[in-house]
Amino acid sequence: MSANAGLYSQFVHSLPGSFIAKQAGLPVPPTLRRYKPSEPPLPGPVLLGGKGRLVEPLREILSTPDYELIANNTTGRGADKLGGIVFDATGITEPAELEQLFEFFNPVMRSVAPSARFLVIGTTPELVKDPCEHVAQRALEGFTRSLAKEAQRGATAQLVYVAPDAPTGLAGLESTVRFVLSAKSAFVDAQVIRVGTGDATAPANWDKPLEGKVAVVTGAARGIGATIAEVLARDGAHVIVADIPAAGEALSATANKVNGTAFPIDVTAPDAGTKLAEHVKERHGGLDIIVNNAGITRDKLLANMDAGRWNSVIAVNLIAPQKLVDDLVAADALRSGGAVIDVSSIAGIAGNRGQTNYGASKAGVIGLVDTYAPILGEKGITINAVAPGFIETQMTAAIPLATREGGRLLSTLQQGGQTVDVAETVAYFAKPASSAVTGNVVRVCGQAMLGA
Ligand code: NAD
Repeated sequence: MSANAGLYSQFVHSLPGSFIAKQAGLPVPPTLRRYKPSEPPLPGPVLLGGKGRLVEPLREILSTPDYELIANNTTGRGADKLGGIVFDATGITEPAELEQLFEFFNPVMRSVAPSARFLVIGTTPELVKDPCEHVAQRALEGFTRSLAKEAQRGATAQLVYVAPDAPTGLAGLESTVRFVLSAKSAFVDAQVIRVGTGDATAPANWDKPLEGKVAVVTGAARGIGATIAEVLARDGAHVIVADIPAAGEALSATANKVNGTAFPIDVTAPDAGTKLAEHVKERHGGLDIIVNNAGITRDKLLANMDAGRWNSVIAVNLIAPQKLVDDLVAADALRSGGAVIDVSSIAGIAGNRGQTNYGASKAGVIGLVDTYAPILGEKGITINAVAPGFIETQMTAAIPLATREGGRLLSTLQQGGQTVDVAETVAYFAKPASSAVTGNVVRVCGQAMLGA
């Protein structure tokens, strides 16, 4: 149990605490299975079902040695603890056919391994012309989010919508399936990811999907940004870590750790983007990935807010991510095939008391993703955002104790996430193999009730 797991979690995992929790019927936060290079992506075999257009591509993805695929029925395998339960629901074209979900999932609900993955694949409802099919496909969202709430012991459920006219080959879908069906998505729960029609190329090596790529991570001296830098470097990228000059020592430490380059800069400086563009063009010929992670909170109830707090949060969290990308694009420094990843927050989705400035900035980031997706798409660049929930960092350590414990426990997974959970989601978006994935906001929040 890590030292920052939270008081409640430490208590129920202690010897006397676990006894008391059992007697009193208190929830015990599950230990989440996280990525280890030596371990298989799932904690058990995968069951694949459904009769849609994507079942064969899915079978192909799951037939690699990384997975143990078992057949479309459970005969004789009822005792197995499944590591993955995948259903292709793209064949469901009217509400009555939703019964297929019940028929497939009901018999296996008691045969699920800890930290297993449920995955439902559907067709993007807003792109479906037939009204009955649209309704049936839209229904998958409520099903999957409820399934996520029923899943136990660290198991999660996600819904992946694939555009109706996406090629049925597996290229565009594979990176998403591999991310969802792995320990890398440990704290991502009840999310809906949309995969478009774009073409994608699988990497030569799924363990080094960013080989030869150059990435910039802002706010990388500590916290989530430092871990994003580590994970992108692990995946093969050369990482340029940026942070305010005052964080110089910590920034150098991150740079050394990832064998990358330290780039001290205040992202709100008017020339931050042009300096960055010059640097990457001169040293690397260009840039493939930018992660706008630098962020600040300056919380106050609106009645007590001052202009300084308001403006600094909007400047760092919202104006800088937009301007950096604008400047990089204007300088032709962001290469085709590249990826922009912004860091939003669940506070930008549901709002938060004392965070009118922060909530506005983080909702604005979602606006950036929406509006830049088609613009950058024309240049072959994707833009997506992660919206973390409660993640254990120095930022959340500053939250008052009771609110902090609430933030941890008020989620289906009953705990705060780790910085690596956000970083793995960023790394998924960053892959060239995710080129069919743009315009998405994925919450990394353990299905937090806050911000729901
Ligand atoms: P953190 O405070 O630990 O780290 C943020 C980093 O950004 C710091 O190193 C800081 O020096 C840097 N930074 C701040 N202003 C900068 C500027 N003007 N120029 C360059 N660098 C600057 O925070 P964290 O918890 O790691 O958060 C990282 C991101 O995740 C932020 O955007 C934050 O809003 C977001 N987020 C965090 C949580 C969480 O639970 N920790 C939840 C939701 C969203």
